[in-house]
Amino acid sequence: MIQTEQIFKSFGPLTVLKGIDLSIKPGEIVSIVGPSGAGKTTLLQIIGTLDSPDSGKLTINGVETSKLKEKELAAFRNRNIGFVFQFHQLLPEFTALENVMIPALIGKVKAGDAEKKAKEMLDFLKLSDRMTHKPAELSGGEKQRVAVARALINHPSVILADEPSGSLDSHNKEELHQLFFELRKEFNQTFVIVTHDEQLAANTDRVIHLIDGVIQH
Ligand code: ATP
Repeated sequence: MIQTEQIFKSFGPLTVLKGIDLSIKPGEIVSIVGPSGAGKTTLLQIIGTLDSPDSGKLTINGVETSKLKEKELAAFRNRNIGFVFQFHQLLPEFTALENVMIPALIGKVKAGDAEKKAKEMLDFLKLSDRMTHKPAELSGGEKQRVAVARALINHPSVILADEPSGSLDSHNKEELHQLFFELRKEFNQTFVIVTHDEQLAANTDRVIHLIDGVIQH
């Protein structure tokens, strides 16, 4: 369960989020759409606890995140939230398998167990024959699936995706979207997807329209 109450955020004189109230149920797949500059990425960063609001409250799985100290917050984030962000791309010097293992290793899972989990996840995403490839040796769609595997390795209850299909062709886009629904079926995860893709948005459980920092009802 993700809940925001009256979230405000400014950058200098610019108020980007103006009192965001949201409630997203476990297992719900919601999309956030709106014009460029509306505050979508800023909101997703705040929901992901990567940035903090100037005021307002964020509660994830019953935990009010502002009450956590820095280290507790990092551990909470690593355990509960998976990110599929375009700028959060794969580390080029590591293989697909190693990239997927990283969040598990950060979460202090033993290397052998992390490898086993990463292999299972890559297998689930039909990437077993690409494990030893480095990102430069993968196609755009494969890279995106590796990023999804990495986001999922710790079985977070929440997956946040920012323009997940931005760099994909329509076939791969369609596949990635279907994958989100398959994952929900398998693991009952909650997805919050920022997108410009109206077609993807229309297929989600709920579309949240953000315009000029305000949710439109
Ligand atoms: P897009 O669809 O173009 O990605 P968006 O709706 O995701 O846009 P945001 O990235 O949230 O919009 O940005 C909202 C506004 O806040 C923009 O005007 C942007 O320039 C500004 N902004 C975002 N991050 C910062 C920052 N760190 N410092 C200053 N201004 C910022």
